[in-house]
Parts: sequence; structure tokens; C-alpha cells
Amino acid sequence: IERTLSIIKPNAVKKQLIGEIETRISQAKLNIIALKMLRLTKEQAEGFYAEHQGKSFFDKLVKFMISGPIVVQILEGDNAIKRYRELMGPTDLSKAAAGTLRADFADSMTENAVHGSDSLTSAEKEIAYFFVDSEIV
Ligand code: ATP
Ligand code: MG
Repeated sequence: IERTLSIIKPNAVKKQLIGEIETRISQAKLNIIALKMLRLTKEQAEGFYAEHQGKSFFDKLVKFMISGPIVVQILEGDNAIKRYRELMGPTDLSKAAAGTLRADFADSMTENAVHGSDSLTSAEKEIAYFFVDSEIV
């Protein structure tokens, strides 16, 4: 059993897609074991995406991530990291297969609707970035 951090990004929240995305997560048999809706500060967004600091898209990414509320949640299940990334589809929506969250809900490479941790190490780090143990049910 594995845990991954999932974010429903501002464009998807604005378009009222929380319910649809949660339905697909549930159909994929990934269990939500913690969840909150919040608005990131600029400092929080920069810290979360620190690995991308200095890249051409960094400022645009931070500006987008603070443009509205997001949903952060922990998903648990067998092979959850890989399975949730498959459900999301690739970063570039033009490469995403129909039926993936990004093919269906991304607006652009930056505004790509969802985030999912990409490794065990990043999942642990990202979960700790948003949740304390008492918030995980
Ligand atoms: P995420 O980390 O959000 O799950 P990812 O792992 O598929 O996405 P990363 O390479 O970690 O992709 O990039 C983080 C985020 O930065 C992407 O989800 C996207 O919003 C944005 N991004 C990445 N590459 C680009 C790019 N070339 N142009 C614009 N935005 C980008
Ligand atoms: Mg990533």
C-alpha cells in the first residue's frame, strides 16, 4: 500500500470539476485519506515547486497556482503513485490519452488541472508539506 499527494489545480476548481475528478479517483480504487481546500500563498507555491525554480515556466506556474483555491488530498492504494499518474496522463495535454484527467480537463501545459507526486520520496515530502499526522484519517 502506498500514498501519493494529489492536487486539483485552480483551473479545475474554477470549472466546478472537483466532483467529476473525485468520481474518477474513486472509480480507480484510490482512497482519499485526507483532504482540504485552500489557497496557496506565493511563498507556499514557490516552496512546493522549488525543484522548478529558474525554469522558464516557473513564474507562470506560481502565478497560476495562486490564482484561486485548490484541493489537496492524500490518495492511498496499491501502487498509488504510478496509478494516479496514469489516471492524470502526461504533463503535456496534447500527449494525453482520451479519458485521462489531463486530456479531458487541462486547459494548457501550465493549467493542466491536476498534480500527482512522481516518486516515493516526493510523495512523502509533498504529503508533509500539506498535512500533519492528525489530519490523516
Ligand atoms: P505535477 O508536478 O504538477 O504533477 P508533472 O510532474 O507532470 O506535473 P512537472 O515537470 O513536475 O510535471 O512540472 C510541474 C508543473 O509545471 C506541470 O504540471 C505544469 O503545470 C507546469 N509545467 C511543466 N512544464 C511546463 C512547460 N514546459 N510549460 C509550462 N508549464 C509547465
Ligand atoms: Mg511533477
